[in-house]
Amino acid sequence: MSKTIAAISTGAAAGGIGVIRISGDNAIEIASRIFAPLDNSSLTELKGYRAKYGNIIIDGEKADNAVALVFRAPKSYTGEDVAELSVHGGMLLVKKTLEEVLKNGASPAEAGEFTKRAFLNGKIDLTQAESVAELISAAGEESLRASFNALQGALSNKINSVLDKLLDISAVMAAWVDYPDEEIPELSDTELIAALEGCKAELGALLDNYENGQTVTKGVSTAIVGKPNVGKSSLMNMLTGTEKSIVTHIEGTTRDVVEEEVRLGGLVLRLKDTAGLRSSDDLVEAIGIEKAYKALDDAQLVLAVFDSSQELGKDDLDLIEKCSGKRAVAVINKIDLENKLDERALENAFSKVVYISAKNSEGAQELSKAVEELLGVAEFDSSAPMLANARQKQNCENAFSCICEALSAAQAGMTFDAINVMIDSAADELLSLTGKKATTEVVNNIFSKFCVGK
Ligand code: GDP
Repeated sequence: MSKTIAAISTGAAAGGIGVIRISGDNAIEIASRIFAPLDNSSLTELKGYRAKYGNIIIDGEKADNAVALVFRAPKSYTGEDVAELSVHGGMLLVKKTLEEVLKNGASPAEAGEFTKRAFLNGKIDLTQAESVAELISAAGEESLRASFNALQGALSNKINSVLDKLLDISAVMAAWVDYPDEEIPELSDTELIAALEGCKAELGALLDNYENGQTVTKGVSTAIVGKPNVGKSSLMNMLTGTEKSIVTHIEGTTRDVVEEEVRLGGLVLRLKDTAGLRSSDDLVEAIGIEKAYKALDDAQLVLAVFDSSQELGKDDLDLIEKCSGKRAVAVINKIDLENKLDERALENAFSKVVYISAKNSEGAQELSKAVEELLGVAEFDSSAPMLANARQKQNCENAFSCICEALSAAQAGMTFDAINVMIDSAADELLSLTGKKATTEVVNNIFSKFCVGK
C-alpha cells in the first residue's frame, strides 16, 4: 500500500492554471472528496485517462470551477493511481486546494517524489528520471532536444545494448567454466576479443562525446574582455537584447563583472561583461580589472573585443597575449565606422575573427558560427545518446576500464573465470548507471535535487 502524496505541480507564481497532483492508492478517493463533478457523478467511478468538469469544495463551500483528471495504475506518470486537479492559477487558491487535499488524507510530496515513484515502479530508469530534471532546467534548444532524447530512452537503449552483449559473453564463459563436459558452443579468443572491442568502442564513443555534450547542454562560461570603450557592454546588450550593462562614453564605466545567460544559436553562453582592461591607478578600477583577468582565465570561452576605428594599442596587445592558449574569438567591433585597425595582427593571433557592429546589432550569426566551430560543437548531434552528468560518466568510465582489463586479460590468454570477473564488474557499473542496481543513497541523492511537485 503506497502512501498517498500531493503537491502543487505548477510554478510558484500566479498563472492561468495551477495543477495539484495526487498520487497513491487513495489518490482518486481523496480527490473525489474535494471535487464535485457538475454531472453529480463521483471521480471514484471514473475510468483512467478521463477528465471531469466540476467544482472544488473547500471547507464545504464551492471555491472554484476546475477540471479533474484521473489516471489508473499502472498507466500514470508514477505507475500509481493519480488525480490531477487543474484550478485557476492564483497562488492562494492553489495553496488552499492543496491544503484541503492534505486535510483529506494525503501527505505532502517530497522533492522529486512523483518521479522517484515512477522510477521505483519501473516506469522509467534512472537516466530517464535525470533527464526529467534536465528537461525542466534546459535553457537552450540543443539542451532541450538532448534531454528529451534521454527521456525517450536514447542513453538507456545504448547502455542496455552494451549490457546485453556483456551478459551474453559472460553467460557463455560461465557455462564453459561450470559445465566443461557439456556441448556448449565454443567461444574463440578471437570472438571474445572482438565482442569486447565492440563494447569498448561503444562506451568509448559515449565518453568522447561527454565534454561536447556538457558544453552544449550546460552552457559555456564566457568572458567578454577588451580595453575600455571598445563596445563590450554593447556586445553584451546585443546578445541579451536588453540594456543590462551600462553603456556610456566615459571610459571605465563597467567597473565590476556583470553576468547574464544568453542563447547564441543552439548554445547557451553564461556571459561575463568585465571592466575595461588598461593600466589604471584608480583603486576601484584596478580591482575591476583584476576581476576581468580572473574571468578571462576561468572562462571556457573568451570574446576579445577590439575597436576597428582605432589602431591597436598597448592594452590591445597585452590582451592578445593573455588570450594565447585560450579558446578565444577576436571580435572586431564598430565596423560601421572607418577602419583603422590592422586586422592581420588579429587574424594571425586568433583562430577565429568576427566583424560586428554591436551598435547596429550586426554580426550575431557570424559570431554564433565562429563560437560553435571553435568549441567543436558545430557538428554536434544532440539526438545521439549522451551521458548527461558526472554520475553517469563515472559509471561509464568504470565499465570502460573493466572492459579494457578484460581485453588485456583475454589477449594475455588468461582463464575464462578470471576474465568473467572483470566482465561482471563492467556489467554492474552499467546496471548502476541505469539504476537497476543503484544504491538507495545514489537514488535519494538524485531525487533530492528535483523540485517539489515533479
Ligand atoms: P565598453 O566600455 O567596452 O563596455 O564599451 P561600451 O559598450 O560602453 O561602448 C562604448 C561606446 O562605443 C559607446 O558610446 C557605444 O555607443 C559605442 N559603440 C559600441 N558599439 C558600437 C558600434 O558598433 N559602432 C559604433 N559606432 N559605436 C559603438
